[in-house]
Amino acid sequence: MIQAKGYAAQSAETDLAPWNFERREIGPHDVLIEIAYCGVCHTDLHQIKNEWFPGVFPMVPGHEIVGKITQIGLHVKKFKTGDLGGVGVMVDSCMECDDCKNHQEQFCQVSAVQTYNSTGHDGLPTYGGYSNNIIVREEFVHHISDKLNLAGVAPLLCAGITTYSPLRKWKVGKGHKLAIVGLGGLGHMGVKFGVAFGAEVTILSTSESKREAAKALGAHHFVVTKNADELAAVKGTFDFILDTVAANHDINLYLPLLHTNGTFITVGMPVEPFQVPSFSLSGGNKTVTGSGAGGLAETQEMLDFCVEHDITSDIELIDIKDIHPAFERMVKGDVRYRFVIDMATLK
Ligand code: NAP
Repeated sequence: MIQAKGYAAQSAETDLAPWNFERREIGPHDVLIEIAYCGVCHTDLHQIKNEWFPGVFPMVPGHEIVGKITQIGLHVKKFKTGDLGGVGVMVDSCMECDDCKNHQEQFCQVSAVQTYNSTGHDGLPTYGGYSNNIIVREEFVHHISDKLNLAGVAPLLCAGITTYSPLRKWKVGKGHKLAIVGLGGLGHMGVKFGVAFGAEVTILSTSESKREAAKALGAHHFVVTKNADELAAVKGTFDFILDTVAANHDINLYLPLLHTNGTFITVGMPVEPFQVPSFSLSGGNKTVTGSGAGGLAETQEMLDFCVEHDITSDIELIDIKDIHPAFERMVKGDVRYRFVIDMATLK
């Protein structure tokens, strides 16, 4: 077994704390990554607190992982030692079902394995990126360019692909008015991709304090949703709304902002279900849909797009021992716009 150390929650009631554990041996198709940086996704908090479903404990969260490949299995072809590698939300799947063949491995119904809080094909629990290393089957590791700031690349592995994928699927671009709800980790990546794809982008935020800084992201408009006048001014104007909010909220505040035939895409995963009156959809032929992360090929496509367009996440680099204050600030919406753990601080 390979020795590893990280930060784990021993139960949903306890804080994360240092924990030594073991990872599986490096199989013939596996690579070992020495983790340099790991992003802090709101999903980490949902999961260590059992907000969605009972988790597998001890739990080492983290699925925005970048680092250097330091060992490879006998049959690995995709990487050599010394390469940079990135891992997102999943580390294995069956590779044979319809979803896998359609490049949507994240929805594999047979044997999808999440990066943490999941059980691997070997029957062992998976542990995520708040740790010094990880062993992953080569197909689930992405090539990472050395042209971009590595810490700023980490959040692309989840926040990046989760916003890139639906905007691509719905062909959002020039001539479209796109609103992004929530300017956090996912939201700020949604703004960057929306702008890069040529859409006219409006941020719908609860935070007046983000108005000035948000301009630097390239958004064309900023609306504070608590201000009734500002909200009324954008009623019926958007072709697409991408909702990235983690907290429980009322979708009916946003549906009237859609144009006729407009589409509301949720990627946020609050605990409480949305209540959607059917007349607010049938009046105006509106669509409510969702999107989950992205497949392997599309994730690499997104990473390559980011290199080409010089896109990284705007981050606050933190020491791993400051993870709890970071969680507290994330819950308050006080992050510009993604915390990333410097894994050198684990030593
Ligand atoms: P985050 O960084 O905490 O950002 C969420 C933002 O939502 C906040 O910064 C805040 O922005 C806004 N917000 C907070 N409370 C709100 C409220 N009561 N009403 C309206 N807006 C509110 O979270 P994240 O890491 O981007 O994750 C967002 C959600 O996406 C989480 O639920 C996460 O689990 C989910 N997620 C889903 C997928 C997927 O595959 N679909 C992948 C990753 C994450 P403002 O200050 O601008 O209002």
